[in-house]
Amino acid sequence: MSDVLSTQILLGIRKIVFDKFNDITIRFTNDEIFEVLKIQNSAISLTIDDMKPFFDKLHKDGFLRPIAQNFTTQWFKLFGEVEKTNCDSCNNEIHIGKLEERICPSCKISI
Ligand SMILES: [Zn+2]
Repeated sequence: MSDVLSTQILLGIRKIVFDKFNDITIRFTNDEIFEVLKIQNSAISLTIDDMKPFFDKLHKDGFLRPIAQNFTTQWFKLFGEVEKTNCDSCNNEIHIGKLEERICPSCKISI
């Protein structure tokens, strides 16, 4: 998978979490995110198994954390509330957790 596509998927997951699950008290699953992602990116052929590296990366970045797993279903919670902002460098709308490093997930520049 290309870097551009990977970044696009990561940005997509961030936006879905912001839109639907932006509450540090709730839990959500990889399946719930995946369903929305598939609808929004019907051209991308992904399976739920392809999603794991993306969730691992978002965990490493301090965006979300896994709290439970049952077969292929993973439950997550947020580290912190997610904020929507605009990156002055790449001009993308981005979604960053309050406890994350202030780096644009699209162009990797400090914001
Ligand atoms: Zn940027």
